[in-house]
Amino acid sequence: IQGVLRRLHRRIARYRRQAARTMENQVIPRKALVVGAGFAGSVVARELAEAGQHVRVIDKRTHVAGNAFDETDPQGVLIHNYGPHIFHTNSERVWNYLSRFTEWRPYEHRVLGVVDGKLYPFPINRDTLNRLYGLDLDEAGAAAYFERVREPREPVLNSEDVVLNSVGRDLYEKFFLNYTRKQWGLEPSQLKAGVAARIPVRANADDRYFTDKFQAMPINGYTKMFEAILDHPNIHVEVGIDFAHVRSQEVFDHLVYTGPIDAYFGYCHGRLPYRSLRFEHEHLPGVAQFQPVGTVNYPNDHAFTRITEFKHLTGQQCAGSSIVREYPQAEGDPYYPIPSDGNEALFKRYQALAEAEPNVTFVGRLAEYRYYNMDQVVAAALAVAGRLVESHR
Ligand code: FAD
Repeated sequence: IQGVLRRLHRRIARYRRQAARTMENQVIPRKALVVGAGFAGSVVARELAEAGQHVRVIDKRTHVAGNAFDETDPQGVLIHNYGPHIFHTNSERVWNYLSRFTEWRPYEHRVLGVVDGKLYPFPINRDTLNRLYGLDLDEAGAAAYFERVREPREPVLNSEDVVLNSVGRDLYEKFFLNYTRKQWGLEPSQLKAGVAARIPVRANADDRYFTDKFQAMPINGYTKMFEAILDHPNIHVEVGIDFAHVRSQEVFDHLVYTGPIDAYFGYCHGRLPYRSLRFEHEHLPGVAQFQPVGTVNYPNDHAFTRITEFKHLTGQQCAGSSIVREYPQAEGDPYYPIPSDGNEALFKRYQALAEAEPNVTFVGRLAEYRYYNMDQVVAAALAVAGRLVESHR
C-alpha cells in the first residue's frame, strides 16, 4: 500500500510541476476600457484588439462614430447629425488604414460665401476678386491685387492680423469679420492667429475647399465604417453608458479616455471653454437641389453661419433633399476648443494631472483639448495604440 501511495504522491507532484509550468507560460490577455467610440476610441480599440487584448468600448451617446455619426433621416436621406464631415488627408498611412474598413466615393468639397445677396467662391480666389469687383485678373494679377490691398502686420499676433495682412480690409469685412463674430462670439483680434491661418487665400482659380491628396467620403457613410472598425471578436461595445457610472466598478488593466479631460478630473481647475453649435436639420420634399455646392457660408446675414446640403457630399440620388443650418452658441455640447493663451494654460494644468495618472491614456479632441481633423485624430490614435501595444509586449 505504501508503495502505491509513494507512486501516487510522485505522480501528483509531477502534475503540479506541469501545471505550474503551464501557468508561467500562459499569456493572460490584458483588459482595456476605452471611453468614447469616436475616431480616437474606435481606432485604439481596434489596434489593442488585434494585439490580443480584450477591449470594452463605452460611449455615453446612444451610437458609435462620435461626431462623425451619420444616419438616414425619416425621409431616407443620409445626413450627418453633428454637422458636415468631409474626409481629407495627405497621410497615406491614415488613408490606407481606413480603407481597410470602407470603400470610398471621391468627393471634393466646394464652398460659396454670400455677400450682398450674391454667391462667391470661398476660400477667396481669383474668381472671387473678379466677380466681386468686376475685374478680369489672371493669377499674377490676383497676386498683385492682394499685394496692393493687404495691410502688412508685423508681428502677426491674432486672426485679425492674419486676414488683414493677406487680403486687406474690404475682403476682411465682407468674408471674415462677421463670420468670426458669429462662429466664436469673439472679435478676430481676440482669436489666436492659427484659427484664420487655417483658411487659405488663392491667386489661382482653384475653388476646392481642401487641396489634400486624398479627398473622399465613406461609400456607405461614417457609421458603417465605424461598425466595421469595431467589428472584432475581442471588442465589446456598449452605448448609452457614461464613464461616470462605471469608473468605480470597472476592472481593467488600462484605460483609454477620449472624453473631456476637465470632466475626468472633476473640473478641479475649472471648466475648459468650448464653443458649441445647434444643428437645425430640415428636409425639403420635392427639392432636387437646394444650393449649387455642398456648403454655403452666410458671413453677414442670419444667426446661422452656414447651410450644408448632404446630397452633394454623399452623392445620394433621391427626390427630396436634406440640409442643416449651424447656429453657434456658448452653451451645449463641447465642439470647438476656444484657442487662447489662457485656455491653453488651463489645459496644461489638466495635462500635468493626466501625465501623473497611472495606466490611463488621454487621446482625442476632448481629451487633448485641441481641434483635430478626422485624419489627424486617426494618426494620433494609431500612434498612441502603437506605444501601448509595444509597452505591453
Ligand atoms: P469624438 O468624435 O467627439 O468622440 C468622443 C466620444 O466620447 C463621443 O462620442 C462622446 O459621446 C464620448 N464621450 C465623452 N465623454 C464621455 C463619457 N463621460 N462617457 C462615455 N463616453 C463619453 N473633421 C474633418 O476632418 N473634416 C470635417 O469636415 C469636419 N467637420 C466637422 C464639423 C463640425 C461641426 C465639428 C464639430 C467637427 C468637425 N470635424 C471635421 C472634426 C471631427 O469631428 C473630429 O476630428 C473627430 O470627431 C474627433 O474624434 P474624437 O474621437 O476625438 O472625438
